[in-house]
Amino acid sequence: MANMEQIVSLCKRRGFLFQSSEIYGGLNGFWDYGPLGVELKRNIKEAWWQDMVVRHDDLSQLPGTPSPYSMTGVDTTIIVHPQVWKCSGHYDLFHDFMVDCRDSKRRYRHDQIVGRWADAKGKRAFVTAQAGDEAEQQMERQAMKFFNLRAKNIEELNWEGTTICLTEIASFEEVLGPEAKALGTLTPPREFNLMFKTTVGALGGEEDAAFLRPETAQGIFLNFKNVLDSTRFRLPLGIAQTGKSFRNEITPRNFTFRSREFEQMEIEFFCHPNESAEWYRYWRDRRLSWYHELGISPERLRLREHHEDELSHYSTGTADIEYAFPFLAAGEYGELEGIAHRGDFDLRSHSEGKLDEKRRPLEVELGPDGKPKWRGSGKDLSYRDDLTNEKYIPHVIEPSAGADRATLAFICDAYYEDEAPDDEGKMQTRTVLKFHPRIAPIKAAVFPLVKKDGMPEMAKEIYLELKKRFNVFYDEKGAVGRRYRRQDEAGTPYCITVDGQSLLDKTVTIRDRDSLEQVRLPASECLAWISERILG
Ligand code: ATP
Repeated sequence: MANMEQIVSLCKRRGFLFQSSEIYGGLNGFWDYGPLGVELKRNIKEAWWQDMVVRHDDLSQLPGTPSPYSMTGVDTTIIVHPQVWKCSGHYDLFHDFMVDCRDSKRRYRHDQIVGRWADAKGKRAFVTAQAGDEAEQQMERQAMKFFNLRAKNIEELNWEGTTICLTEIASFEEVLGPEAKALGTLTPPREFNLMFKTTVGALGGEEDAAFLRPETAQGIFLNFKNVLDSTRFRLPLGIAQTGKSFRNEITPRNFTFRSREFEQMEIEFFCHPNESAEWYRYWRDRRLSWYHELGISPERLRLREHHEDELSHYSTGTADIEYAFPFLAAGEYGELEGIAHRGDFDLRSHSEGKLDEKRRPLEVELGPDGKPKWRGSGKDLSYRDDLTNEKYIPHVIEPSAGADRATLAFICDAYYEDEAPDDEGKMQTRTVLKFHPRIAPIKAAVFPLVKKDGMPEMAKEIYLELKKRFNVFYDEKGAVGRRYRRQDEAGTPYCITVDGQSLLDKTVTIRDRDSLEQVRLPASECLAWISERILG
C-alpha cells in the first residue's frame, strides 16, 4: 500500500487532482480534478448511476432482494427554501464543536485533537496533536519543545496513561495545544454551524439569507410528491441524485477526504414501514458489494453497524462502509458511505414541521410579526397504495455516498509499485494504477511502434475507430517502453501496438496492464475484444 505522499504526488504529476486556486496559494478544503481525475470521477458516478438506477432490476430478482422495486432520478438545486434546513434539523443541529488556540491562532475540531499526559523537570501537561497517523510523533516533538529537552535527555520525559481525545478533558488549563508554546491557550469548545450562508436577491437583508446545501438528500424529499404524481411508479421506489454539497468544515484535511465542496451520490428509498427493516439490510449489503464489484480490496473495506447510542433519534439502524485509507493509523478506517434507516422522519417533518424525539412537531417559533416563523410545508406527503387503498407515510432507507471519497479510495487501492521490463528487456520498477477497466480514465492507448513506414497511419485508424465508443489515447512519441509506463501510471488497462507485422497481416498486439501479457489479434477485432472487458 502506498503512502499518502506517493498518492498526492502521482495525482498532481499525472493530472488527477490539483489544489484549487493553486497559483494564488490555494484555498484550504477545495480541490480541482485534472484531465485524468475528471474522467475517473465521471466513470465512478456513471457506474453508480448505471448499477443503482438504470440496471437495478438486473439484480432485483436475485436472492436477498425483498421484492421487485423501481428506481429513478432527479437533479435538484443547490439553494432551496431556507425553511427546508429548519425542518431537516440542519439549521439547529448541523454543527461541530471547535476550539481556537489563542497562541497559534489555529482552529481545530474539538473531537479531532488527541493528547496524553506527560511530565518532565517537575512540570506536567496534557500534550496534544491533531489525530492521524503522525499524532504520536507530533506529540513527542511538542513535548520535547515544551519541556525544553534535547534528544539525548528523552528518558526524562514521562508519559502517563494512554492517548485520549481532548473531549475527555474537562479543563484546558494544563492543555498544551497542538501548535502552542504555553499551557491553557485553547478556548472552550464552541458550536459552529457547517452550512455556508449566502444571500439571494439584491436587497441582502437577513430575510434573504439562504444556505448552500450540505447534502443532496433534501432535494429528493422535496420532490417526492412531484415524482410520484408525474410518473406511474409505485412503492417501493428509490430516487437517486448526484451533485455538489458544501460544508464549512473546521479542519478540512487528508487530501479530498474532508473537503468543503464535494460531490455526493445519494438514494432515498421509499417503502412500506413493515418492510423497511428488510430493505435496510438489502441496501447495506448491496452497497458494500458494489465496491467489491468495482475491484476494491475486500480486506481494506469494512461494514460497521452503528451502536445504539450512535444512532440519530429517528433511526433504527445505520451502517457505514469504511475504507482503510493510507493517511489513517493501522487498524483505523474512514467513512466512504453511510446507509441509514431514517424512518418517516424526513417526509413527516417537511409536512408537519420539525419534530421532537417523540416525533411530535416542535413548538412553532414566532417571527417578529407574531406569525409562525418556521413550520412544515403543510403538504400531505403520505402515499396511498392504489391496490390496497392503504395510506401511510413511507419509511426511508438512505444510502449516501461521497463521489470524492470513493474516487480517493479507488486511487489508493489501485496504486502499486512493481517491476516491468524496459525497452532493453531489463526489469525496472514501475508505478501502476490497477483500476477496474470500467472506471479507468483511459480505456486503451494506441501506439505505432515507430513513427514511420505507415505505422502511424494504421494506428490512427484504429484510434479513431475505438474513440467512437470510449476514451482512447494516441501516442507516437518516444520509446515504446516509456509510453507503456506512462499509461501504467494513468491506469490504462490496454495498450495496442502497431508494428512491422501489423503492416503485413493487419494484426496488432494488445498488452495487459496488470499481467503484462501480450496477445496478437486482427486489428478489426480490437473493438470487440476491449469492449467485452471494459463494460461491466
Ligand atoms: P464525516 O463523519 O466523515 O464528517 P458524515 O457522517 O458527516 O461524514 P454524511 O453526512 O453521512 O457524512 O455524508 C454522506 C457521505 O458524504 C459521506 O459518507 C462522505 O462520503 C461524503 N462526505 C461528507 N462530508 C464530506 C466532506 N467534508 N468531504 C468529502 N466528502 C464528504
